[in-house]
Amino acid sequence: MPDRIVLLAHCFLNSQAKIKGSPDIADLSEKILNILIKYKCGIIQLPCPELLHGGLARWGQTKYQYDSVFFRRHCEKIAEVIVNQAEEYQRHHIPLGPIIGVEGSPSCGVTLTCDGLWGGELSESHSLFTKIKEVDIINKQGVFMEVLQSSLSRRSIYLDQIGILESEPADSLGQLMNYLSRNELLGGKMDE
Ligand code: SF4
Repeated sequence: MPDRIVLLAHCFLNSQAKIKGSPDIADLSEKILNILIKYKCGIIQLPCPELLHGGLARWGQTKYQYDSVFFRRHCEKIAEVIVNQAEEYQRHHIPLGPIIGVEGSPSCGVTLTCDGLWGGELSESHSLFTKIKEVDIINKQGVFMEVLQSSLSRRSIYLDQIGILESEPADSLGQLMNYLSRNELLGGKMDE
C-alpha cells in the first residue's frame, strides 16, 4: 500500500506525449520512478494539457500563446478529474503531494516557464530565427499548473509542488528525495 499519493506530470510516464523532437528523457523518467517507488508513492498521472489541445503535431509554443481564456478553460476541464481524486484522498486522510511538474514548460512549469511574444503567420515572417531567439525562460508557473493549483485551492486542497529541470535534473531530484524522506520521517500523516 502506498504511503502517499503524488501527482506526476504526464510525460514523465509517457514521453511520447512531448513535442516531436524533444530530448529523450527515458533515463530521467527512470530516476524519478525509482525515487517514487523507493518512498512508496502511489502515482496519479496528470493529463498532458498540450497533447489534449493540439495533438502530437503541435508546435512548441510560449506561455504567452497558451495564456488564453480558451486554453485555461480546457485546463480547468481536464484538471477536474484530478481535483476530484485529490479531494477524495484528502477526505480519507491519505497524504497527498507533491505535484511534480516540468520546469520550463509553458503548461507544466512549476517555477520556470518559457515565454515570449510569439504568434502569427509563419510563412510571412522574414525574421523567424530572431523571433525564435526571443523566447525566454522566466520565473513563473505554466498555465496548467496555475489552473490546477487554483482549482485545488477552491476545494481547500493545498499541495506542494516540485519542478524537475530536465536539462540539469540533479538538484530537482535531490529536492524530491529530500521532500519524500522528510515526510517519511514525519510519518506521512495528515491531520485528522
Ligand atoms: S504539456 Fe506538460 S505533460 Fe505535456 S509534454 Fe508538456 S510538460 Fe509534458
